[in-house]
Amino acid sequence: MAIRVKVIEPPKLNFLERIYVPEIIRGLKITLMHILNFKPITVQYPEEVKQLPPRYRGLHILPADDEGKIRCVACKLCEVACPTQAISIVAEASDEYGVERSPKVYNIDFMRCVFCGFCVEACPCDALRMGMEYELASYNRAGLIHTKEVFFNPNVKSVAPRDNANFLYERAEGDILDEPEEIEKVKMVLSV
Ligand code: SF4
Ligand code: SF4
Repeated sequence: MAIRVKVIEPPKLNFLERIYVPEIIRGLKITLMHILNFKPITVQYPEEVKQLPPRYRGLHILPADDEGKIRCVACKLCEVACPTQAISIVAEASDEYGVERSPKVYNIDFMRCVFCGFCVEACPCDALRMGMEYELASYNRAGLIHTKEVFFNPNVKSVAPRDNANFLYERAEGDILDEPEEIEKVKMVLSV
């Protein structure tokens, strides 16, 4: 097969372009205009805190039930779903909240976590959410392993049922159902 060669002619320069000086001055003028119209886009963190989008996936939180207790039932679905094996849970028997198990130990290793959110999607009872915090720096590795005592947030409440919150979440097209009346409404729709 013959090789086809396409010859591209260089652009023809006029006299002023060929002596370069006017073009250099034109380039310097553009640079000067950028300097004079400079608007900084750098965020002066930590003095200035950037507004995050509402669906930001930051550090995990464990929401509380209406009694202010951890909702987690130590089913370990989040541990299994985690692609980086960042979650480690040790369960213990419990009947305190009408459930069989509760987490004795619940750790997330933020040296491994990639903030994918799979663990939150896997949780069947809305016991784990991604929060808005992102300040994670630590002077040592141990400080990057967060225990449930660190990321339990009693100010974030959820009353979604422990058995099927995730299913209801999908049916509600993305809204987490927090009100018992809303949950009952979705249950009625599903039972028709
Ligand atoms: S966000 Fe992803 S990587 Fe991090 S703990 Fe959850 S599942 Fe694991
Ligand atoms: S999936 Fe939810 S309930 Fe199960 S262990 Fe993880 S946080 Fe707890």
